[in-house]
Amino acid sequence: MTPLLEKLHQEGILEIKKTANHWYYQLCSDCEIFIPKHISKILSDSYKPNEEIGGFYIVKPEKRNGKIFLNAIDVKIMKNIYPDPSGTFLMDDNDLTKAVEETCNNETGCLPIRFHSHPTEGKDPLTIASKYLFQTNTSTTDRKSGEYSYAITHRLVMPRGLLVKNGLTRTMFIGFYGGGILPSGFENYKNVLTEKMLEDVLEKSKVFFNNKENIPLIIVGGALVLFLMFKFPGFTLGTMFVLGAIIPVFMNSNMPMYENPKYFAQIQNGDVTIEFPKQLHIGFA
Ligand SMILES: [Zn+2]
Repeated sequence: MTPLLEKLHQEGILEIKKTANHWYYQLCSDCEIFIPKHISKILSDSYKPNEEIGGFYIVKPEKRNGKIFLNAIDVKIMKNIYPDPSGTFLMDDNDLTKAVEETCNNETGCLPIRFHSHPTEGKDPLTIASKYLFQTNTSTTDRKSGEYSYAITHRLVMPRGLLVKNGLTRTMFIGFYGGGILPSGFENYKNVLTEKMLEDVLEKSKVFFNNKENIPLIIVGGALVLFLMFKFPGFTLGTMFVLGAIIPVFMNSNMPMYENPKYFAQIQNGDVTIEFPKQLHIGFA
């Protein structure tokens, strides 16, 4: 793989990073990844609601009009060898090395992006919905491994992927983190989206509350909130409001898109392009 890495370095797709006693290649930013429909279908079909699955995307990098474009041409699902697969994904090192060598080499010109999934199984819709919300975050281990070099060669650091499927709507969360160019988690960007969405909701509700015809609905809505607070005492009005506003976004395939997907996307089936924009603060926060 080394000649390929050097070639991609010459082309300005990879850059060399140095630490006190190590050097490695990582992707230059900005770049974007394209995941075609047939790959999102493989991911969707392979997802398990009660176990973590994983493997790697096979991406062909190229430069188009000065921008780095990662074209996902295939995905390999690997066996989870961890004794309790419900909370951890672990690949056999030898199997991984072999699979990567076969697909990502000087001839194919492809690079691997490892990914794993988080399960969302639950007994009732509320558990499933909240699991989807909370599982679309990276764990502490995920954050750390996002900065490790790729197993096949300690000279390559690539972002990592996270996959979560919503058990209620079949919407799939496809995200990427780490790799030296992306945030280690999705919270910050989700907060940006949520803020924009709350502004939107508030703007719309102003019109709603000012309309006298909506008074019966407001009374019913108020009663519903009181009922839910009574049923789920841990929920304050604040969390109810925020969850009420967030859940549609994270459950719907038609989430309001304020801009092109960055770091993650939510799709049901189909092509998607996700941007990896240059960002200023990278860390474990
Ligand atoms: Zn994880």
